Amino acid sequence: MGSFGKSTHFTTIQSFVPDFCPNRITQYESKRTGMRVVVVDGEGPKLHGYFVLATEIHDDSGAPHTLEHLCFMGSRSYQYKGFLDKLATRAYSGTNAWTATDHTAYTLETAGWAGFRQILPVYLEHVILPTITDAACLTEVHHIDGEGLDAGVVYSEMQGVQNTAQELIDLKTKRLVYPKGSGFRYETGGMMEQLRVLTAERIRQFHRDMYQPKNLCVILFGELNHDELLETLDEFEESIADSIPDPAAPARRPWIDSEETKFLEKTIVETVEFPDEDESMGQIDIHFLGPDCAKAIEICELNVVLLYLAGSSAALLENILVEKEQLASGVYYQINSRPKTEVTFSLSGVKTGKLQEVESRFFEILKSAMEKPLDMPFLRDCLDRQIRTTKYQFDTSATAFADDVIVDYLFGKRDGSTLEDLKTLNDYEKLKARDESQWKKFIQKYFSDAQHVSILGKPSASLSEKLKQDEAKRIEEQVKELGPEGLEKCAKKLQEAKVENDREIPSSMLAKFEVPPVESIHFINTSSARAGPALKVGRPSNRYQSIVEKDAKDMPLFINFEHIPSNFARVNLMISTQQLPVELRPLIPLYLESFFSLPIKRGDKTVDFEQVVIELERDTVGYDIDSASGLGNVECLRIQFQVEIEKYDVAIRWIKELLWASIFDEERLKAINSRLLADIPDSKRNGENMLTACHLMLHLAPESISRARCTLTKALYLKGIKHLLKTDPSQVVSQLEKFRKSLCSFPNFRVIVVTDLEKVQNPVSAWQEFISDLNIDPSNPPALASLGKRLDRLSPAGLHPGQPSYIVPMATLDSSYGLASARGPTSYDDPSLPALMIAMAYMNAVEGPLWVAVRGTGLAYGTSMAYDIESGFIHLDVYRSPDAYKAILASRDIVQGHIDGTVPFDPLMLEGAVSSIVVTFANAQATLPAAATSNFVRTVMRELPEDYMQVMLKKVKEVDVEAIKQSLRDVVFDLFRPEKSDVVVTCAPGLTEQVKIGLESMSYKPEIHELSWFQDDYGLKAGNEEDGEDDEDDDDEEGDDDDSGEEDED
Ligand SMILES: [Zn+2]
Repeated sequence: MGSFGKSTHFTTIQSFVPDFCPNRITQYESKRTGMRVVVVDGEGPKLHGYFVLATEIHDDSGAPHTLEHLCFMGSRSYQYKGFLDKLATRAYSGTNAWTATDHTAYTLETAGWAGFRQILPVYLEHVILPTITDAACLTEVHHIDGEGLDAGVVYSEMQGVQNTAQELIDLKTKRLVYPKGSGFRYETGGMMEQLRVLTAERIRQFHRDMYQPKNLCVILFGELNHDELLETLDEFEESIADSIPDPAAPARRPWIDSEETKFLEKTIVETVEFPDEDESMGQIDIHFLGPDCAKAIEICELNVVLLYLAGSSAALLENILVEKEQLASGVYYQINSRPKTEVTFSLSGVKTGKLQEVESRFFEILKSAMEKPLDMPFLRDCLDRQIRTTKYQFDTSATAFADDVIVDYLFGKRDGSTLEDLKTLNDYEKLKARDESQWKKFIQKYFSDAQHVSILGKPSASLSEKLKQDEAKRIEEQVKELGPEGLEKCAKKLQEAKVENDREIPSSMLAKFEVPPVESIHFINTSSARAGPALKVGRPSNRYQSIVEKDAKDMPLFINFEHIPSNFARVNLMISTQQLPVELRPLIPLYLESFFSLPIKRGDKTVDFEQVVIELERDTVGYDIDSASGLGNVECLRIQFQVEIEKYDVAIRWIKELLWASIFDEERLKAINSRLLADIPDSKRNGENMLTACHLMLHLAPESISRARCTLTKALYLKGIKHLLKTDPSQVVSQLEKFRKSLCSFPNFRVIVVTDLEKVQNPVSAWQEFISDLNIDPSNPPALASLGKRLDRLSPAGLHPGQPSYIVPMATLDSSYGLASARGPTSYDDPSLPALMIAMAYMNAVEGPLWVAVRGTGLAYGTSMAYDIESGFIHLDVYRSPDAYKAILASRDIVQGHIDGTVPFDPLMLEGAVSSIVVTFANAQATLPAAATSNFVRTVMRELPEDYMQVMLKKVKEVDVEAIKQSLRDVVFDLFRPEKSDVVVTCAPGLTEQVKIGLESMSYKPEIHELSWFQDDYGLKAGNEEDGEDDEDDDDEEGDDDDSGEEDED
């Protein structure tokens, strides 16, 4: 039919603004194909797209996961591997994807609608009409290489996870919870033995069955033009109309038209062994089936009940199992939204010998609680808290709706009635009328009296050994069976596939898509206002400053405000650690972990810690204490409160009370310390975390708080504390008092508040109470202490890399991780920075030089370079590699090739590198609160001008190829100069020797050491000779402190 003007095939199902947030939600459907579109409007530079396909499969073949990878390998109009990602880089975009049991989602993040609109139809074509060639299946899914080893991108990925504790536990669970014939029973990632035999045709069939427009929901978040969107999608549908199955043909809806999951008929408790040399600690997972995820009110009820049971240390299960009885280091829960919602409780850090007992205890606690009255005030608190935190999430970011929209698409009604549940939070209001017996009935039905599947995860050293031997034997047999001729054939086949995959993309194809102008991106600037010594940074001239000044009288405290429209206040206290005695710094983990869970002295009363937690949960949306890396100084601490704007003064009161009035109760300290210790074995299993840990121990001075709170410090130091708590607890208490006295002093404090200054009461004077007991003379306040710098807290090896390198064998690994470190720029206005930024962005690009040389050749799952101005390091990171040395060597060669000109620079990719830097600037503004924080970091912490970003972008655009070469030669290549860089590798014990020989061939001087060699007790000897009753060994997670040097809010 001829169309007149801009008619569209899309109809609006509904459009509404929820009553609890400002973002409009609009739902469309294509009358032509059945494709669904949901748009959530938002503001700012970033757009997010989720392209979701409902998928269901009844085997472990891995077809869903492999297909996810193959969609990036080319489409009908763009039959080139890497085209999509190269285009994405140019269009200020990044792509990613995940495969869940019930859906596959492709994601697109873009700065600016122009770029998003440009790439959208190209991306969708890759999803709906991918090429799925034999050659792509060979390299991306699975193949046997010329040496008889199994490889392939997906294969290696699954090899890395298949025998981890969590994966083994999850698989066992699926098999026990869901019967044959249920799609929830299977591992959609693919089991290794099945990936080895998966055919390209099976994947193509799966694509035909599932990847049709009528099974696709396009979900968009951000600032965009709806008419242009529908026009783009109309054109896209037009372009694929001849190649998709008839949209009118009858089709079944995955999951909804499948057999319904039944509730469990009986309870099952089973043990699952996982490989680990350290057999001291295991974990327990307990699974229940709950209400239908499309029944909004029941899901609200479930959320409240879960908070009541395990949402905080005052909640029933966590309070007893973790705090009182110390049987576990944590109780967590997770929800999988399904027609029968799956609820999993995980108990971490359980002593292996007590797994059975703790599992029984979990149910004893539940059952006995049901025999007593419920704590109704606490339950109502949980209900209020749930409402508050939900509002807060949506106040923070439009993408908070993503999960809800996806779940609605998969399991909700297609007439829009279930999506409409997002209009209000009224269901929670309705729950306020429920009485105790109704709540109890719910808990009994779904938890205390419910059938369940419990998995006891038990570490096993012999399993670790057996898996290795079995795999070696299998490979040996495979090699034998193939014979020299077979191997040669494999090598040839692989080589041919690579040649086919790597056909060069005609540059005209990419050049057709012009880089959208930077002006198409809506960057936001937040406004600052300041009081007290913060004014030394500069006095802003805007209306918010006058609001603040109207309220400010003689405020000696440093306070910096960033204004955003919001119903919440984000209150931060940054604390310098500069005055803290070095030998006390390893107390930081214990101090932080106990900060919100100690009893408090209030007047002449002692408030016990449970009450403290209950009140904290009642008064806030969130609270946290950690390093101040998000505020631009990784060596400071930061206390953060998120509260409703009316509770601004309450947050301030809390900070004061927690800083000065908490009581270092010995029993509490014992409980908290042993919890920290219980988590150590788990974090020592992780190759990536331990790589970072070794780097921190080597390259940072004892003064650095990141080193003082590193797992490899905690492993010894907290053991010493444990011993002291047993033999002389008062000594620990007096150490902590000393710690507090030195930390909690006026000169160490800076306040940063992100809130709506139009709404908040007494923004400045509310802080008078905070300092009222400190005897500060407002006319002559004490000078502020320096914040300290990471740069001044480096070890000699950190200041002068080029010392020995280190290889750390770890029994838990079956691959290797590597980190090379050298010195780089240390200031944000270093003239060498723009060229370095481009050089690294160019090297790191998706489908760029490092990707092709390392990931593309199977030498590692990932490699990337980074610079960190705060510490002055540059790094090369090798993530999960069969031989980290080879990955480092390949990285060196590709850099060398660009320096000496044997590998030419691609002008289109250079444009892409500039785009990717634009994206990093946009990422700092991903949400309004994030934009506010990065504004503070830029202007106050880094003292950079307002237009720093614009100036840098201009400089970056002016960088030419010669300057990039120079940067690669003079800065980046230091990563590969043995006299200027250090390499640390964590690896499977079997790889140690080959990595060593490899590094030596690059003229490094590698030493081999166990993890324990890197540990430091900071002089606390007590307890290291101790032994006996205690088998547990170590302590807590890394995570919080990578050297990425990026600021990121929440
Ligand atoms: Zn994958």
